[in-house]
Amino acid sequence: MYKCMNCGNTEKFFGHAEENGDVIIYKNDFNDDTETYNWIYKVSENNWNSKLVIESCYFCHSKNIKKL
Ligand SMILES: [Zn+2]
Repeated sequence: MYKCMNCGNTEKFFGHAEENGDVIIYKNDFNDDTETYNWIYKVSENNWNSKLVIESCYFCHSKNIKKL
């Protein structure tokens, strides 16, 4: 749980999600006229982590957020 130390908000924040995990990257042999390669990124679902990063208060935009 997070709390804005400026306005006391504990409900809503701005932030983003960081995702890290193993991927398998390979060339897709796609026969068309352009000779461009399509690169496929395949997510290995066994090792995928999502991390939430809280950046600022939704209401007052303060970055003084404390993790409770
Ligand atoms: Zn706030």
